[in-house]
Amino acid sequence: MSINQTMRHLGEERSVIREIFEYGNARKKEIGEENVFDFSLGNPSVPAPPEVNAEIARLIADMPPVKLHGYTSAAGAPEVRAAVAAYLQTQFGAPVSASRVYMTCGAAASLTISLAAMSEAGDEFVVVAPCFPEYRVFIERAGGKVVEARAAADFHLDFAALARAVGSRTKAVILNSPNNPTGAVYGREELAALAALLAEKSAERGAPVYLIADEPYRELTYGAEVPCLLNIYPDTVLCYSFSKSLSLAGERIGYIAVPDGCTDADALFAAVCGAGRALGYVCAPALFQRVAAKCLGKSGDIAAYRENRDLLWNALRAYGFECVPPEGAFYLFVRSPEPDAKAFCARAKKYELLLVPSDSFGVPGYVRISYCVAKETIQSALPAFEKLAKEYGLR
Ligand code: PLP
Repeated sequence: MSINQTMRHLGEERSVIREIFEYGNARKKEIGEENVFDFSLGNPSVPAPPEVNAEIARLIADMPPVKLHGYTSAAGAPEVRAAVAAYLQTQFGAPVSASRVYMTCGAAASLTISLAAMSEAGDEFVVVAPCFPEYRVFIERAGGKVVEARAAADFHLDFAALARAVGSRTKAVILNSPNNPTGAVYGREELAALAALLAEKSAERGAPVYLIADEPYRELTYGAEVPCLLNIYPDTVLCYSFSKSLSLAGERIGYIAVPDGCTDADALFAAVCGAGRALGYVCAPALFQRVAAKCLGKSGDIAAYRENRDLLWNALRAYGFECVPPEGAFYLFVRSPEPDAKAFCARAKKYELLLVPSDSFGVPGYVRISYCVAKETIQSALPAFEKLAKEYGLR
């Protein structure tokens, strides 16, 4: 057949998360929206901060439409790149020049571009499992091989596992903090130890092991500090997105930043530009580049996510479920009361609870519950969770 079978497969076998989400939509039509408890997708549930709409209105009123909606430079509008670099410098003291900021269509594009920019035949990319399922798709499409390093039991970094996973073929490690699906936020000492390990591995390899910092949840923490990796490990490529912080997931806007001290920074940045070109991105959405530049560091109502987290976590614990408290992002990663998480999700579905089995995140035996939903959805879902717990005799 004259079509690409890998792509066909990816198109036919939709992501497990999307599959559950589509099922939820169909089910809502059958039995009513309020009777389905869809915890599948990480779609922000709080409105964008007011600055977003204010800036959209201002731009529409003030800028000539031809300029506002036209192509920008491939790497982004110069004033936007300058604003991002200035923000990273002033907020974190990070050594980033505007000339090495590349505006993207969200974290997914930041990742696919960075991976394509780095990847050469035989390269391996280390991910910390459990992890965002699309990493595998992105890495393999870039021609790389995925190597998993399991996280520790508390979902923080397991340095023995990382030391085994990072080898002479490792081009980069992808790190996501705050983490999807576990909610872990890696601390400063932990990241310093990772930097030391990667520096050691780079020396052994005679070439840098890059760190790809995937940070769409940076602002979404419940008190934990999210240290800036650009200051901790110079060979870091920051892949940022405004999808979650500004609740702009559908608008597709983010950036890549390559710090000044990064090995071969100019060559790597040129490869980022080349990868963006080869992947056909042309430029990131022009209106939202400018909106993002005015809303750097802002976020939607994190207090609402915290309320949801506390409500759900406390209730699930009281019902007898096991779950590490999330320090950031908007997911609970709950141990399945039976070894087969898919079977558990099937039982949950009988109570109209839509949960995601952990298998696609690279580990068995857990489920991910996205709590970026209306508080009322959680309140209405609690009796269903309680019945489910009773079915397993949890408490
Ligand atoms: N990385 C992680 C860990 C994510 O959870 C997501 C989205 O859920 C992405 C990347 C992709 O984000 P974006 O919508 O900005 O492409």
